[in-house]
Amino acid sequence: MLTGMQITIIGGDARQLEIIRKLNELDAKLSLIGFEQLDHAFTGAVKEKFPDYELSETDAIILPVTGTSLEGQVETIFSNQKVILSEELLLKTPSHCTIYSGISNSYLNGITKKADRRLVQLFERDDVAIYNSIPTVEGTIMMAIQHTDFTIHGSNIVVLGLGRVGMTVARNFQSLGANVKVGARRSEHIARITEMGLTPFYLSEIEQVVKDADICINTIPHLIVKAAVIAKMPSHTLIIDLASKPGGTDFRYAEKRGIKALLAPSLPGIVAPKSAGKILANVLAQLLEEDFNKRKGKK
Ligand code: NAP
Repeated sequence: MLTGMQITIIGGDARQLEIIRKLNELDAKLSLIGFEQLDHAFTGAVKEKFPDYELSETDAIILPVTGTSLEGQVETIFSNQKVILSEELLLKTPSHCTIYSGISNSYLNGITKKADRRLVQLFERDDVAIYNSIPTVEGTIMMAIQHTDFTIHGSNIVVLGLGRVGMTVARNFQSLGANVKVGARRSEHIARITEMGLTPFYLSEIEQVVKDADICINTIPHLIVKAAVIAKMPSHTLIIDLASKPGGTDFRYAEKRGIKALLAPSLPGIVAPKSAGKILANVLAQLLEEDFNKRKGKK
């Protein structure tokens, strides 16, 4: 239980509602910033606003999956107000206050470091990334269906990367009856792709492999689908880029060549916010309880 723990939840989308629900159940004291337009009221959770709201009692801050922008703005779907998280605000929290975010960037890393507050990036955890790959792939299948006039079954799919998302993508498209080729740069990945009954290739061979691709799904967060690669694709190829912004595709060249290329961020929040929120809520509950019990033990 989190009885007595003060948690401030700042911004976010529908995924955050599952987190609020879970932490409320665990009896945490919740303050919500950037939720004025949320109709639903949670007993025990109080809607607050900066600058009136004081962070001096806050044991933990929970940010959306995206963290902050490079200017410090926090995404707030349930508010029209601009919410900025700054070093000055963090300095008002107690020194033990931990900041939880999905991902981070140079701005968020910088202000937490300068304020000397612990930052936890939930998506760096394998468990979160693997669970989250499930709604990500369901969203990818949805996009593939929406943007093509052929079945996935029997089509040639090229998947780039065999990380936590790439593996789930490859396996699910295979089970839908597609011919799946997976590109990687490490020999152990090539071995795993072979073991999975898929066709492996080294990324150095990408230009050859995409020549008969119906759909190319990128999960590598580096420019990998370069102009020279796109130039070799048939004109009907659909590129779905799942890698975090700006993706790994030369979108300018794809447009020039008339190849449809879609950057598809935050699919779990779009196709399954409830499930995606539960994944985060369960991990957060575990981490917050560990942190809270450790501090109680020290007192
Ligand atoms: P991951 O487990 O770290 O996998 C990344 C893969 O990319 C690995 O196979 C890695 O290979 C490869 N890679 C990285 N840098 C490379 C490079 N320079 N050249 C060649 N290969 C490289 O990451 P993940 O959890 O699968 O996530 C992949 C991407 O999807 C991330 O950008 C993540 O933010 C994004 N994502 C998007 C959504 C969405 O809704 N669109 C949802 C979840 C995640 P090595 O092991 O050889 O480095």
